[in-house]
Amino acid sequence: MVAASLPAGSEVITTPLTFCATVNAILHAGLTPVLADVDPLTQNIDPAAIEAAITPRTRAILPVHFAGRACDMERIMAIARRHDLVVIEDCAHAIETEYRGKKAGTFGDFGCFSFYVTKNVVTGEGGMILGRDEALVARTKMLALHGMSKDAWHRFGDAGYKHYQVVECGFKYNMMDLQAAIGIHQLARVEANWIRRKEIWAQYQAAFVDLPIGLPAEPEAGTRHAHHLYTIAVTPDRCGVERDAFLDAMTAARIGVGVHYLSVPEHPYYQQRFGWQPDHWPVARDIGRRTVSLPISPKLSEADVARVIDAVRAQCR
Ligand SMILES: *Cc1c(COP(=O)(O)O)cnc(C)c1O
Repeated sequence: MVAASLPAGSEVITTPLTFCATVNAILHAGLTPVLADVDPLTQNIDPAAIEAAITPRTRAILPVHFAGRACDMERIMAIARRHDLVVIEDCAHAIETEYRGKKAGTFGDFGCFSFYVTKNVVTGEGGMILGRDEALVARTKMLALHGMSKDAWHRFGDAGYKHYQVVECGFKYNMMDLQAAIGIHQLARVEANWIRRKEIWAQYQAAFVDLPIGLPAEPEAGTRHAHHLYTIAVTPDRCGVERDAFLDAMTAARIGVGVHYLSVPEHPYYQQRFGWQPDHWPVARDIGRRTVSLPISPKLSEADVARVIDAVRAQCR
């Protein structure tokens, strides 16, 4: 967002069903986040809600490919073109995601990936930005390393010392070469890991079809789902158990569970700063209060998967 040179105070439209970093990044760039509610089936930002949120100050859209499901990029890019908006895709869940044969992260002006420990390529910390404009990509590199015109590889060498210039007030946001060395070898396993997660996803879908819980929609035609998260919806009226009690029961059964996510307006910081209330984005609110993420690591054995299935069935009958 900084590299895109959006004017200070510009509004950036994003989803309330995301990790806080999506919204915090907008704030750290000196911009104003505006939330547009999600579609109940895809759980991705609803293009109609984006349109409704546009004001004369809107400059960018920041869609998140939630759980690895591709956003409706055709409609989002059409809106962006019509209103002359920058698009920055949050691809933290979407390393393997495709939409109509094209990789997630290649539709917008930038695509941002995370290699944090919970993601499908892990370097401890770090990430990757894709961009379609060479000059803007060069600017992201420069901004990521203090705003210096040359990194260390290009200052020191056999040809002699080369001066660098500081051309902007940049950041210390570079990924270490050591981290890259760890990450680059994982690229060879991305596909095999994806195939294994896809199998686990299909096993869950088949095993839970008769249970009174909400299951994720099948991936849309013409898309490739990254199967980064497998999320179910637990409601007391159908399942007879509260979501949080379900989380506790799974933990007691020694099964790791997660919540992706309580909607952003549930958090006190945003309530206090912007007066946001969950009720203004009711679809994201309801998903956030019902959702449970089940284990979907490629390292799960068949016995592990069977144990997860049994534990869910024991809770919801
Ligand atoms: C993990 C995550 C991020 C943040 O990535 P970091 O590399 O930890 O900064 C942003 N958005 C979403 C949707 C995420 O899941």
